[in-house]
Amino acid sequence: MIRKFLRKVFSRNPAASESIARLNIIPSQRHGIRRNQITPCALKIASQLQQAGFSAYIVGGAVRDLLLGLTPKDFDMATNATPEQAHHLFRRSRIIGRRFRLVHVMCGAETVEVSTFRGPSLDDEHNHRPAQLTDQHGRLLHDNVFGSQEEDAIRRDFTINALFYDPIKEEILDYLNGYEDLEAKKLRIIGDPVQRYREDPVRLLRAVRLAAKLGMQIEAETAKPIGDLAPLLQNVPPSRLFDEMLKLLLSGHALPCVVELRARGLHHGLLPMLDIILEQPLGERFITIALKNTDERIRENKPVSPGFLFAILLWHEVLSKWNSLQSAGEKPWPALFKAIDQILSIQHKKLAIPRRFDAVIQEIWVMQPRFEVRAGRKPFRLLTHPRFRAAYDFMLLRCESGELSMELGEWWKTFLSADSEKREKMLPKQALAKKGRRRRSRKKTSSDLVLEPENAIPINPH
Ligand code: ATP
Ligand code: MG
Repeated sequence: MIRKFLRKVFSRNPAASESIARLNIIPSQRHGIRRNQITPCALKIASQLQQAGFSAYIVGGAVRDLLLGLTPKDFDMATNATPEQAHHLFRRSRIIGRRFRLVHVMCGAETVEVSTFRGPSLDDEHNHRPAQLTDQHGRLLHDNVFGSQEEDAIRRDFTINALFYDPIKEEILDYLNGYEDLEAKKLRIIGDPVQRYREDPVRLLRAVRLAAKLGMQIEAETAKPIGDLAPLLQNVPPSRLFDEMLKLLLSGHALPCVVELRARGLHHGLLPMLDIILEQPLGERFITIALKNTDERIRENKPVSPGFLFAILLWHEVLSKWNSLQSAGEKPWPALFKAIDQILSIQHKKLAIPRRFDAVIQEIWVMQPRFEVRAGRKPFRLLTHPRFRAAYDFMLLRCESGELSMELGEWWKTFLSADSEKREKMLPKQALAKKGRRRRSRKKTSSDLVLEPENAIPINPH
């Protein structure tokens, strides 16, 4: 059965088919991972499973990250115990998932995901995928059959993600030469690249993200079809795209990922039409600076809000829509709200940005023009807004990218650090009047449209 399956999966790649049949056991002297690098929770689960007569391995990203000297985000475990058997062994555990059931085992604040080995969803008799298991593009609709450990390795995405670490024996089991690929820093898809991308187009994005995050080369055969298959991403449920995009943006390597997505033609219709944005010099600079900033924050373990990130990625879309609505004769405020509504609704459909982020995104955007009104009590009122800090950081990025003058950013920095007496002095009435005159005499820009007193922004414009 396994041989038959391997022949099928690797039929277009005979070299790979030879190599996958061989199991390599890598001893601890060679790979260097010690069981004390595993959390006590994961270790306890593995040893209890093994004591009960089951196999238990740390799998996937955690093994890969440990080998690369990175700290794993979490520890996933694979076993030959069924979900019921695993659930039975651990008092603090629960079975989750309907299609493919997994067990979450809790110890203290940690949760370890324990998954039964999964196999290929193949029709045995005909040795091909029955039509109802895939959509018309070859995308797997079901991936929920128990299998052997070997099959579990093969159904994974990249060879470096298919290593099993036994924390009791401290051995690594490698069915697909993942260890060698990892040493050579090669990201290689398992099996026939086209078929594997068709089964699950999210693997296209995972290839780019993992290569950027791990500083690896995408192996030539794995890289070749990526550009051509990019349109398959349109068939992926938006919620999965959203999850994957968020992983990418919060990876600490968002900038190289986005650059790579674009270079490989994967950005179309994914991020807020990155193709358009990155072709506008201001948009490109804005996103580049913002993503660099985000990457630094993540590497310093500082919090990053997804709402803030999406506000950044979509801002130039909003700006350009806002401008065109105004050119068509709409007033600045209604035009801004219309632009926001339109851009967000496009993105809800494409990326499934959950509506819970809408409030943050909108608030950040709607506060932007208010930074430009340096008159009367308005700057004071702005300071008290609960989302002031995010909107302020956003405005500074706009200054840094050249969209707004640096003078505005500097003014706000000074205003923020000043005491109330100095703040009052920073808003002299006459100087403001003069400023208004000067502004009217020069050519209008998009942001000027909201600077003029008649357009002053209400606190709750909706
Ligand atoms: P990260 O460090 O970003 O979490 P990861 O490789 O651990 O990376 P997960 O999404 O946590 O990514 O997935 C865990 C494991 O499940 C992977 O290492 C891989 O073996 C397998 N896997 C994940 N997504 C896919 C997929 N689309 N197709 C096949 N296997 C996958
Ligand atoms: Mg993971």
